[in-house]
Amino acid sequence: MEHPENSVEYAGLQVNAGVEQPQSVNPYLRQMRKRRQVLFTVSEYVEGILRGDVTRLSQAVTLVESTLPEHQVVAQEVIEKCLPYSGNSVRVGISGVPGAGKSTSIDALGVHLLDRMGGKLAVLAIDPSSEKTKGSILGDKTRMEKLAVHPKSFIRPSPTAGSLGGVARKTRETIILCEAAGYNHVFVETVGVGQSETACHSMVDFFLLIQLAGTGDELQGIKRGIMEIADGIVINKADGDNVDRAELAASHFRNALHLFPLPESGLVPEVRCYSGFYELGIDEVLDMIGRYIDHVKETGFFQYRRNEQAKYWMYESINEQLRNGFYFNPRIRELIGPTEQQVLGGQVTSFVAAKRLVDEYYAEIKD
Ligand code: GDP
Repeated sequence: MEHPENSVEYAGLQVNAGVEQPQSVNPYLRQMRKRRQVLFTVSEYVEGILRGDVTRLSQAVTLVESTLPEHQVVAQEVIEKCLPYSGNSVRVGISGVPGAGKSTSIDALGVHLLDRMGGKLAVLAIDPSSEKTKGSILGDKTRMEKLAVHPKSFIRPSPTAGSLGGVARKTRETIILCEAAGYNHVFVETVGVGQSETACHSMVDFFLLIQLAGTGDELQGIKRGIMEIADGIVINKADGDNVDRAELAASHFRNALHLFPLPESGLVPEVRCYSGFYELGIDEVLDMIGRYIDHVKETGFFQYRRNEQAKYWMYESINEQLRNGFYFNPRIRELIGPTEQQVLGGQVTSFVAAKRLVDEYYAEIKD
């Protein structure tokens, strides 16, 4: 269109027609993105993993973490193919409240472990809050400086999968891939908030609880039932003028542990003090884990616990699938809001409302 200022009253002024502006988005970007997302075949993933190719392993883990159904189909097949090559690691869960020194300790324990035993270490994480905070605070490479640059370590932050069950399942599947890739030591880091500890416990051979002295943690731990699932308790930051307090906390824990029935493993959890930061007592913590593993392998409890975990995860997966089937059903999605209102308005009881919805769901899926 002719520019308005080229009309006669602006005589002497000539405004040239503008040039068309280029697109602000690179037209090739979409194509590039598509190319980057390209999926490999199941056997390409599996061969890469079995070869110990870290890039291919990372790509497969990304696939496991993806929520896209087409990614999940491939991921599940890859996991199935890797399953016969998995199981050959010692899996250690490491838990503690934020600030307890988990990353510092994992860094120290990991490097000492690799120095002593050789092999390869995978550090994974379960952090149910990562969905909310959009960014995981666990399994962060920048917080494990030595392991992050260690050629024999693989660090992966927590998957973000919404529900705790989802996050935990993906971490468990990632363990299988890592083991198939030859990682014979696996650490699973989790934050000390109730249910995620239980989820972590259900996929490891040894559950290590990191505590601090003088924070009232002793009582907290006992109250929350966490003592029942700990296979070993360690008091971190036993350095400087904190050593005596750490020793005192340790003796409180030892006394408290006598109040509990003997765990299924037949071993009373050991309690030790150490300093992750100054790397004091690290080898003793590793010895404690080693002693436990040797014992349970000898008694058969090691395999028993893994079998129980496999069973647990079968039922967890059934529950998850049933729940998803129900809540994502279009008819149920339509009805659930109004039904909730009826319950809130006192028109129907919770039980009647639930039964109506479930009946409706079964009627739906029958057709
Ligand atoms: P996380 O949140 O449990 O992973 O804890 P971090 O490993 O990030 O540690 C929290 C803080 O405690 C950091 O400032 C560490 O430097 C410090 N810290 C960790 N371990 C020790 C230790 O053994 N002794 C001392 N004095 N400080 C420590």
